[in-house]
Amino acid sequence: MGYSIFDDTMVDMTWPEIEAAEKKGAIVILPTGIIEEHGPHMGLAVDTYAAYIVSVKAKQLLDSRGIGTLIAPPQYWGVSAGTSVFPGTFSVRPETMQAVIYDILASLKSWNFDRVFVINWHADIEHCRAILAALQDARREMNIDAVCLVGEFDIRRLRLTGEEKYILKYPQPPMTGLSEKYVDIHAGSMETAVMLKYFPKHVKTALAKKLKPTKVTFEDLRVLGKRDEATRKLIPDGYFGNPAGYDISAAEKMVDDDAKAAADYIEGYLKNK
Ligand SMILES: [Zn+2]
Repeated sequence: MGYSIFDDTMVDMTWPEIEAAEKKGAIVILPTGIIEEHGPHMGLAVDTYAAYIVSVKAKQLLDSRGIGTLIAPPQYWGVSAGTSVFPGTFSVRPETMQAVIYDILASLKSWNFDRVFVINWHADIEHCRAILAALQDARREMNIDAVCLVGEFDIRRLRLTGEEKYILKYPQPPMTGLSEKYVDIHAGSMETAVMLKYFPKHVKTALAKKLKPTKVTFEDLRVLGKRDEATRKLIPDGYFGNPAGYDISAAEKMVDDDAKAAADYIEGYLKNK
């Protein structure tokens, strides 16, 4: 694995290799993230790198168990109303994202891939809903078995039942650094640690060590994106969490556990078909 989100994906394969993999019954993982500001200490692609890394690790496990797996080009145009006041957050309209995901699935289906698993790393509600809407349309209109892996936390947050055909409910490990009172989910300890582990070149470590923890609650997050001044006031540096509290081995374990849970549940899903 290098710094390219194309490494180990379909992008670096030739078309005959892709065709041969399909003939052998390969499945496809589609990583989805966003290009979004991640504090003063990290580049914009954290969520895209994270979705990519979990996808690659899940692919390696599945391949080792005899389930041929390809990774579609990581989809990095996402939706973020919350941080769009900061330069660097490219936010597309939900309908744009929905259309892009749909069209990616249509391309895959046209080459006979009909089992696709979305691994998403970006929590914005509208972003998640756009993915789920695209999956529902694709399942209905093109007879493709495409699902998004969703953990318990997101099932509650997105008001799903867990029984929807377009999701694959799996035991996603809890995010490290998520304390009871203050949220640490955006460019905080966990994401900083994930980047330091896998893409350290894109972290300004000395600066990260100096950043003060924020005291932002889930309740506070409701103002995000509603008004620019309120967003700037709540998260003046663009992060919420504790960048300096990064724990690289905890983050590595979380990513490994996530990839293993994803691989186990994809394997189980395929067996039950
Ligand atoms: Zn992030």
